[in-house]
Amino acid sequence: MKDQILLMARWQGLKNETEALERRIGALPDKIALLDQELAAREEEAAAAEDAISRMKKAYRELDRNARDLLARIKGKEARLPSVKTNKEYQAILKEMDAGKAENSRMEDRMLEMLDEIETAETTAGHIRSATAIVRERVARDREEIASEQRRLITERDAVLRRFSEVDEELEASLKEKIGAVMARCKTPAVVPVRNSVCFGCHMNIPRQLYNELQLYENLKYCPFCSRILYWDPVGEPDSSS
Ligand SMILES: [Zn+2]
Repeated sequence: MKDQILLMARWQGLKNETEALERRIGALPDKIALLDQELAAREEEAAAAEDAISRMKKAYRELDRNARDLLARIKGKEARLPSVKTNKEYQAILKEMDAGKAENSRMEDRMLEMLDEIETAETTAGHIRSATAIVRERVARDREEIASEQRRLITERDAVLRRFSEVDEELEASLKEKIGAVMARCKTPAVVPVRNSVCFGCHMNIPRQLYNELQLYENLKYCPFCSRILYWDPVGEPDSSS
């Protein structure tokens, strides 16, 4: 019986190991998604900065066009001056030209401001581009690391699964049924160690009598508190020389 009980312990151990590896493998896509999200946010920020610059440049070109049109109109007025008949009309045209020149000067001031703003925005966009490039490289590296971790974990899991099926073949069918019955009551893991009288399924102290019996490996014992199948694990006990 001792062999089968220890085999059960091994069966559960390998099952736990498989499940832990499965959980780690299962968590990897989320890690990749987080990296992709981080990069997408950066790319979006970079694209927004570029958009802002092209809007600013467009506004600058528009203002430049308007300023040129205005200058052309001022020149047109100036060309009319020699053919003006009355002083009143002459003065009116001069007044319009002055107003136009003042407006043109405001436009040119604004254009200079805009050039400064574009330069600042381009510097900022440059920083964002470099930061994005760094993130892009890191994300590519991290993704590769995750992919190789995934391959490693899958290889490890497959090896554990092979050991598990060997143990599973050796384990008596009646014992597998008993494990199945405990698992069906939602007790996972179904087989747990008892160390220093403590059930590692529910962390309760089991009765002394049961603890002594467990060490004889005569028959299957269940935890009186959580109903899991127990096996004695002498790890860490002062009197466990072997
Ligand atoms: Zn228990």
